[in-house]
Amino acid sequence: MIADVAGRLADRFAAVDRPWTGAAPADLGPAIAAVDLDRPLESFEDAFDEIGDLYLKDAVWFHHPRYLAHLNCPVALPAVAAETVLAAVNTSVDTWDQSAGGTFIEQRLIDWTAQRIGLGPDADGVFTSGGTQSNLQALLLARDEAVENALLKHRLEVGTPLRGVEVLPRLRLFASPHSHFSVVKAARLLGLGEEAVITVPADDWFRMNPAALDAAIETCREQGLIPAAVVATAGTTDFGSVDPLGPIAEVTAAHRVWFHVDAAYGCGVLVSRKHRGLLGGIEHADSVTVDYHKSFFQPVSSSALLVRDRASLRHVTHHADYLNPAEAVFPNQVDKSLQTTRRFDALKLWMTLRTLGPDTLGDMFDRVCALADQTWDWLASDPRFEVAAPPSQLSTVLFRLAGADDDTHRLAREALAASGEGMVAATKVEGRTALKLTLLNPETGLADIVPVLEALARHGKKAQEAA
Ligand SMILES: *Cc1c(COP(=O)(O)O)cnc(C)c1O
Repeated sequence: MIADVAGRLADRFAAVDRPWTGAAPADLGPAIAAVDLDRPLESFEDAFDEIGDLYLKDAVWFHHPRYLAHLNCPVALPAVAAETVLAAVNTSVDTWDQSAGGTFIEQRLIDWTAQRIGLGPDADGVFTSGGTQSNLQALLLARDEAVENALLKHRLEVGTPLRGVEVLPRLRLFASPHSHFSVVKAARLLGLGEEAVITVPADDWFRMNPAALDAAIETCREQGLIPAAVVATAGTTDFGSVDPLGPIAEVTAAHRVWFHVDAAYGCGVLVSRKHRGLLGGIEHADSVTVDYHKSFFQPVSSSALLVRDRASLRHVTHHADYLNPAEAVFPNQVDKSLQTTRRFDALKLWMTLRTLGPDTLGDMFDRVCALADQTWDWLASDPRFEVAAPPSQLSTVLFRLAGADDDTHRLAREALAASGEGMVAATKVEGRTALKLTLLNPETGLADIVPVLEALARHGKKAQEAA
């Protein structure tokens, strides 16, 4: 069955001639709703044929060289093979007695990543479902450290008992306007509220201003509030900008505030031989988010949270008699995770590193970063376009159709997707729509991108003429 699927899937991939068919919800929704889930088909082959119609025919193909939209990567084949293995064995990396070698394989990759970052001898971490969960857990650790410190301080200075819940409303987090929305979401989930996130201004290159951060923390202290964490972004989702990690680390050290680096996107730089310097300062972080499913070319999901001090992970530990009793002598990864039953995603990265090696992955990421620069130059020199941001430090490109308004951009992008000629994303830069390319396919070249841009210009012109 599995060998058969591999063959059929390979045929599908070979037949893909565009990133997407542009199917509308009205095409797919009713067909899927009409399936009678209580009445199985005759065979697995029939079921596979059915998903061929309902899903694969109109799937969005991230490996296609003209898929240029979101932070999705084509996947390394050793990882796809590993996905089959881990699903078949069905290892759960929560306790030693459900994973055995899996525990050590995951741990080796955590140690390897922490070493690449330079977190030091007490580092640790755990695989997570994605950057959103990694950021949530990082901020949970920061919150609980801040609460513990505040309670201790209160006991020493005031002498009366104080409850943790009384501290929560005073906690503040700091992030730039270009940080990922999961930071604000985490603040909500952690009982701090969105208002707890203080926005620190960024410069013209969309990077956090460290002097403004220093001032914001100072103001916070003067108001009797407690700065609990600074979130620096190493690769903002829209701009690929990297906050100045070294100078931010100096500010967080001076104020003794938890320093979290969200490197969900930029983590690929950890294996780059060319650009490693871009992440200078990350070694000072208290916690780091990495998304292997973005710039390590891994299938979703594959992500991790790394911490400088393994003791900080105690904030998510709970000992259950039936699972991971406190007196357990074997390592139980569940002690460090928000999840209980957990996929053995680490095997995918393991197989990728053991087959391709880190330098190859780094070269792949370097290639898409270089391609973004080439594309930027091409756009800047063509009067039909204007660039909407300076060249990215990573692999995004923001631009507009010259003289076009928001509606024209929307129509041009929709027409492009519907035609199957290519896929691009859209966002806003300074309140105005901009089109966005996120380049993550090392097999894409400028020769693939230019026809997509030409098509956009054509669709934009048509939309303007019709208006
Ligand atoms: C994608 C992204 C996230 C969220 O990661 P998921 O894996 O999608 O949950 C967080 N931060 C940044 C900067 C991202 O680009």
